[in-house]
Amino acid sequence: MIDALKKTDDKPFPLLINTHHHGDHTSGNIAFKGLAGHVVAHENSLKNQKAVAEKAKTEDKQLYPDITFTDSWKQKVGGESIRAYYFGPGHTDGDGLIHFENANVLHMGDLMSNRRYPNVDKSAGASVKNWIVALDKTLSTFDNKTIFVFGHAFDPEKITGGKEDIKAFKDYLEKLLVFVGGEVKAGKSKEEVLKATAIPGVTEWQGDGIIRSLQAAYDEITTGK
Ligand SMILES: [Zn+2]
Repeated sequence: MIDALKKTDDKPFPLLINTHHHGDHTSGNIAFKGLAGHVVAHENSLKNQKAVAEKAKTEDKQLYPDITFTDSWKQKVGGESIRAYYFGPGHTDGDGLIHFENANVLHMGDLMSNRRYPNVDKSAGASVKNWIVALDKTLSTFDNKTIFVFGHAFDPEKITGGKEDIKAFKDYLEKLLVFVGGEVKAGKSKEEVLKATAIPGVTEWQGDGIIRSLQAAYDEITTGK
């Protein structure tokens, strides 16, 4: 990727931006050591990246953010204006949304999992409840012409999309909470809840790992966290 980018522009890379800390989004950082001017991420992304690396003893393989933000951050790069937003915990507690304002492209990182069961990383402060709020804020902050980039998609062709995709994912999370909430109220054990292979009313979401959604929702509903 670096070779390909160097061919399109011989300027050094002024910024490397991480949407969040997960390895499939930051383990390539190290390749930019000495090449990227700055590495930018939400402050909790840095906290989480450090915690995971310390545990896995891979600290020497990390390039950490040196610019962090809490609620928002903005910088001009060439003719583009880049603004980062934070709408609270969702997929983790450190998911930034990165808006390329002139191009009107928003990279949502893993706050969007298009038609594919999401990872809900409770060990990094995820919140299904606030994820729904964050998606609402995304829908109201950006206009209908915005091109949304998704962290993951079941169909690899569909890694970009529009507001209808975000609404569909919000609907998935809402139905997940309703379903698990109903099961808990009905006295079902955690083991029983985790056996579910589908969420009533949800038809479009698929892939591996529905259990991560069920587990996160169950923990949230029963512990309030
Ligand atoms: Zn992730």
